[in-house]
Amino acid sequence: MSNKIILHLDMNSYFASVEQQANPFLRGKAVGVCAYLSPGGCVIASSREAKSKGIKTGCTAAEALKLDPAVVLVENEPAKYRSTTEKIFKILGQYTDRLEPYSIDEAFLDLTDQPSLKLQPGRRANWAKSIKQAEKIGLELAGRIKNEVGEWLSASVGISWTKFLAKFASDIGPKGGLFLITPSNLEDCLKGRELIDAWGIGQGMAVRLAGFGVNNLLELKNSDKNKIRRVLGRYGYYLWANVNGLEIGAVSSGARAPKSVGHSYCLPRKTADLKYLTAVMYKLCEKTGRRLRGLDREAGSMNVGWSYAREGGYFRSFKTKEKMFTTAEIYRQAGGLLENHPPVLPVRMLAVSVGALAPVSAQMSLFENNLSVKELSRALDRINDKYGEYTVVKGAMFGLENQAKDRIGFRKSVGIN
Ligand SMILES: [Mg+2]
Repeated sequence: MSNKIILHLDMNSYFASVEQQANPFLRGKAVGVCAYLSPGGCVIASSREAKSKGIKTGCTAAEALKLDPAVVLVENEPAKYRSTTEKIFKILGQYTDRLEPYSIDEAFLDLTDQPSLKLQPGRRANWAKSIKQAEKIGLELAGRIKNEVGEWLSASVGISWTKFLAKFASDIGPKGGLFLITPSNLEDCLKGRELIDAWGIGQGMAVRLAGFGVNNLLELKNSDKNKIRRVLGRYGYYLWANVNGLEIGAVSSGARAPKSVGHSYCLPRKTADLKYLTAVMYKLCEKTGRRLRGLDREAGSMNVGWSYAREGGYFRSFKTKEKMFTTAEIYRQAGGLLENHPPVLPVRMLAVSVGALAPVSAQMSLFENNLSVKELSRALDRINDKYGEYTVVKGAMFGLENQAKDRIGFRKSVGIN
């Protein structure tokens, strides 16, 4: 094992807690934060109290009210969550400059070089001592978030020697508490855990693993890595390495820039209507493109897909031959999937994200004169910034002004299956 010390911090019931923090009247109550307030609107985050009533992400407002007639439904306010996140990440940044924000409510901290840990390279015995020190930092962080950002905010902290294990620790540990995964308790932590409990394993991959006799995370750890690599390729090996505590891709230093940007949208009515789905997809691409251009980045990979109303979904991740910058370039990839694989079942949620972000190149694209299109895209963004969203829109977006509003996609909404 490496002797790194990685801390993962995950805010609990984040959007709902921020709402409860802002409005004391909501504290202790079942709260559902909705994409928008209409009977078909989706709950995108529920408070601890709402979760205990069975109100989960993805429930419609009508379903939530059925589960608990007293539930308070509020419309989401992304600006509020972002400003709270900024305050939280500012505190985290005081402990290390190796801070990697992972999503709006999660971040990794590489504490290996933290002076107070006194970790000497290559000294494994030292690691066990240092992790006690890291535990103190974890508790301090959670305490400072309560004191300095809001007493209703609760963080779960996981500490281990890889990012995967630190995140797994915060997932399986007590909510609002701290949990360590060390070499001595690793197997106990994996024992009997379902494959899909692990970060990076979707339903589809779980089925493929089960196909050759791997039914839980401990079995994955103890499986034959060469066989996994042969049957499931590099991604299978990556999953095997994760549960074996081998880090593939360390916490990037000082990387505050996101690795991917994207949007997802819960449809107000579940449908397989291709025309409608295409229009929503276009809008998601437009919003993704605006964020991409706002970061002054172009993208080289695409995650796109949809979840069906009943179960399962269709998701694809791929590298794109051409870099994407304009909405048209993003839509060419995402919309293509819809056109080539039109959903036959009603769809509940659509998601698009782009990754492999890199500084914008001045390269000419095969499809169009990039520079002028880039300039045009930037100009349209500026007009929209000045006069409000959707002043200038493409035909496909007309009539959708109230749908796919500003929102923050949790990364989990797009995964490799
Ligand atoms: Mg969370």
